[in-house]
Amino acid sequence: MSDVLSHPRFQDEQAAYDWVEAHLWPDGPVCPRCGGLDRITKLQGKSTRIGTYKCKDCRKPFTVKVGTIFEDSHIPMRMWLQAIALLCASKEGISSNQLHRILGITLKSAWFMSHRLREAMRSGPLLSTSGTTRGSLSG
Ligand SMILES: [Zn+2]
Repeated sequence: MSDVLSHPRFQDEQAAYDWVEAHLWPDGPVCPRCGGLDRITKLQGKSTRIGTYKCKDCRKPFTVKVGTIFEDSHIPMRMWLQAIALLCASKEGISSNQLHRILGITLKSAWFMSHRLREAMRSGPLLSTSGTTRGSLSG
């Protein structure tokens, strides 16, 4: 399992965002509020959080998390990706307790993640907008 999680997207927050953005936005960033595509700029600065974009049409900043299972959590994206990889690699599924121990996150975060992931899996592929299947998420 440690080999699987050695990929940069599981260790590096920027790489994690790059990977999720490539899956959810195959044609480039899309504003989750107005659906705008053309007038979006990536915010880059020392105090800017990773993966923050700004739409010039509605003047709101956003990240790829908006409207996904990753929204409203302070859990790093790379932790989400690790959890997804573990979940996909395990036939029996994985408990909150296991996530807590393997990923070294709090039990509360682990519970939150497994709840969201389970919910998302019930309704379809985890990253559904690009038609990605669960299988390809583990690869
Ligand atoms: Zn917009």
